[in-house]
Amino acid sequence: MSATIDGELDSLKKHGNLRVLPDEAPDSIMDFSSNDYLGLARRIDIQQSFLRECACISRWLIGASASRLLASRQAEFNSLEKTLEDAYNDGREALVFNSGYHANTGIIPALASDSGTVILADKLVHASIIDGIRLSKAPFNRFRHNDMCHLAQLLRVNADAGRKALVIVESVYSMDGDSPDMQQLVNLKRQYPDTVLYVDEAHAIGVAGKKGLGMTAQYAGDVDITVGTFGKALASVGAYVMCQPQMRSYLVNKARSLIFSTAMPPLSAQWNGYIFKLMQTMDSERRQLRDNAEMLAHEIGGRASHIQCVIIGDAVKTVQMSRDLAAKGLCVLPIRRPTVPPGTERLRISLSAAHSSGQIGKLATTLKELI
Ligand code: PLP
Repeated sequence: MSATIDGELDSLKKHGNLRVLPDEAPDSIMDFSSNDYLGLARRIDIQQSFLRECACISRWLIGASASRLLASRQAEFNSLEKTLEDAYNDGREALVFNSGYHANTGIIPALASDSGTVILADKLVHASIIDGIRLSKAPFNRFRHNDMCHLAQLLRVNADAGRKALVIVESVYSMDGDSPDMQQLVNLKRQYPDTVLYVDEAHAIGVAGKKGLGMTAQYAGDVDITVGTFGKALASVGAYVMCQPQMRSYLVNKARSLIFSTAMPPLSAQWNGYIFKLMQTMDSERRQLRDNAEMLAHEIGGRASHIQCVIIGDAVKTVQMSRDLAAKGLCVLPIRRPTVPPGTERLRISLSAAHSSGQIGKLATTLKELI
């Protein structure tokens, strides 16, 4: 066994794919790697006022002590779900999960547990979705990235064969920063009403849509499952699904990652509600983020998204470029397989409303020098 592990580690190293946990970054580094799109993770003032509120609370908040189905503490979770339902205000109900990974690996197998349902997923969906698909053991097909004609073909073939479809996409793709045509997706759902439409909004919540509620909020009647996460723009941990009440009851009974895992600390649930309310008011941060995205795209070319990438196409070169950027005080981590397909290794740039134009300018100039 140890020889096999050695061999695997050697091979990863040889091909530039060995991952190590990075050291604590100095405060002076300009961070273009974390998903702190609104700059909330660094807002000590907001965290202090939240903690001051908590200091008045005499109930324990640190550990849930059991899964949601068994825990005696429910108040913080119920209150968080109410906050989410009030925000969307479209008749859907909310169900909180411990993380986006838990949500995707719990919900997908619950929805596609038999061979009568085929999963149709975009070619570039996140690993947590792939793992959910694998756990489901349902037949699946992946359509070309953002190619709605390809999806339409697959829907037709499966409908002709009498199979229902579970269509899974992201509203903003985590490694490319692009989006599917939501209206076309909704049109397909209307054409094939037996289809379950599942949209992971991990990188859109806080950033896109009215009040930062994502790109599916305006299509609530057509999107069966909206997954949002608290770990990106919301500077926290956890995830939620918005769905019809009947679907929520089904997931409470069938999503194994919800049933068989200790619930997140009530403290995190409370912070999630606090920050979710605040996030909706942050239109000026969203505007700043858009300005930052436009400035960088103008400088280096490409799409004006809060996630931009420079494709290098070679793991060793990508790692070296990331090191060169770090030496100049810029943290832009290399993305390699299996996160992205081989040949598309890249520097992934994650922008924040907290970046100044000077910082974006320095990144652009340094990238142009290195490429
Ligand atoms: N879904 C998408 C699209 C993601 O990019 C990620 C994380 O990067 C997740 C889900 C997982 O979310 P979490 O970090 O909350 O487990």
